[in-house]
Amino acid sequence: MNIDASVEIILQKPLEGKQLTLTEIETLLSIRDTHLLERLFWTAREIREQYFRNKVFLYGFVYFSTYCRNNCSFCFYRCSNPESVRYRKSDEEIIELSSSLQDSGVHVIDLTMGEDPIIHNGGRYRRLIDIVQMVNDNVDIPIMLSPGAIPHNIFNKLREAGADWFACYQETHNRNLFKRLRPNQDYDFRLSQKMWAMESGLLAEEGIMVGVGECLHDRARSIELMKNLQVDQIRAMSFVPQNNTPMAHDTPSLFIDELVTLAVMRLVHPDKLIPASLDIEGINGLSSRLNAGANVVTSIIPPQQGLAGVAQHELDIDDGSRSVEQIENNLDDLGFSIAPLSDYVSLIQGWKDVKGNGATL
Ligand code: SF4
Repeated sequence: MNIDASVEIILQKPLEGKQLTLTEIETLLSIRDTHLLERLFWTAREIREQYFRNKVFLYGFVYFSTYCRNNCSFCFYRCSNPESVRYRKSDEEIIELSSSLQDSGVHVIDLTMGEDPIIHNGGRYRRLIDIVQMVNDNVDIPIMLSPGAIPHNIFNKLREAGADWFACYQETHNRNLFKRLRPNQDYDFRLSQKMWAMESGLLAEEGIMVGVGECLHDRARSIELMKNLQVDQIRAMSFVPQNNTPMAHDTPSLFIDELVTLAVMRLVHPDKLIPASLDIEGINGLSSRLNAGANVVTSIIPPQQGLAGVAQHELDIDDGSRSVEQIENNLDDLGFSIAPLSDYVSLIQGWKDVKGNGATL
């Protein structure tokens, strides 16, 4: 059988609701032929359409502390980078930013920080819990929290304070690569974050970085492992070399690798949320990621507020290109529309109910 025919057989399986094997996932991840890429992306869009029609969700991003105690090899905010912009937003600033994002029409406030020693050292996480409570008291939309790796006993407190989601990216599920990417961090402790979050009634997001030294088999394993974890949102983001890091001179990832990964994720996780990150190519990268099967736009950042992004800390932020207004125009042109907030709330409430968490939003 020629390659086209065997790929067509694999692509037919998710359209019929069948699961892909690890080998089939790896085969799809290897596609680079133009015709087969079109078939892959078309299939990913068809499957997204079955579950989400043309509706897209928007996530607002509040990077409230860029301090970090860790030294991840790929990250601009690693503690040993003296060029990294460092700030901690005050309570008033966090409330103001979260409220203005809510007013602009996002579905989720994503509260993100590095592993700020002021919050992480000492082990009580009172400041983190208070921030979640404070935002929950002041906004009426779901809250995602991305604080790094935290102890098991803190998850319930975060949910009680009002968090809905917990995001913590492994970036790779190859243990040796993990050691190089996240020196002195514990692979199992980080992986457990997602399970502890879900045990506590939170929804969880897991993610990988594409082009950090992993092979196709690693990527395929990650996609399968994320299925087994039963997380609710999965992301893939291209590696972009950052100044003043050990990986500053590594070859940047090819964006096509990220797009293929997103499409294969959609085939394996048909009903899950998959972000199209503006952090890699800015607004110019939105259409290719949606065309590959993504259905969430991250990270929407208010302009002129001195906020940073993650992978590219300034990209398209201060000129307003990452605002809801600008994104809505682009979505219209691409034939997508922003989902009503009620759709999002009932989607995630349904997931919480299935996981056995009676808490309401
Ligand atoms: S990836 Fe996160 S934990 Fe690692 S250095 Fe950057 S901010 Fe810190």
